[in-house]
Amino acid sequence: MSDKRKMKKYKTIRTSNKAIKSVICNNCGRESVLDTPGNYNTDDEFESFKIKFGYGSKHDGEKYFFDLCGNCLEKIFKSFKIPPEVQEYNIIDDYGE
Ligand SMILES: [Zn+2]
Repeated sequence: MSDKRKMKKYKTIRTSNKAIKSVICNNCGRESVLDTPGNYNTDDEFESFKIKFGYGSKHDGEKYFFDLCGNCLEKIFKSFKIPPEVQEYNIIDDYGE
């Protein structure tokens, strides 16, 4: 089969893959450098947050992005009058959410 008869032709494109090198806690400023891309140092737990504020709220039309370390997250949870609702999840089912 000649090349002309193929339905799809492909060209090679360059892509740049980015991996997180370090993360800084927005609350306390502590930094964790990732020894292996994707893996934080074993005793450092960081979580990323994204808040999209709703219509009519104080931050209407804004999105906030920030990271918190495990220590700060625990302090925030303990400062709540009503603790957050906790649900167990299956890491495989939730992958990619
Ligand atoms: Zn922190």
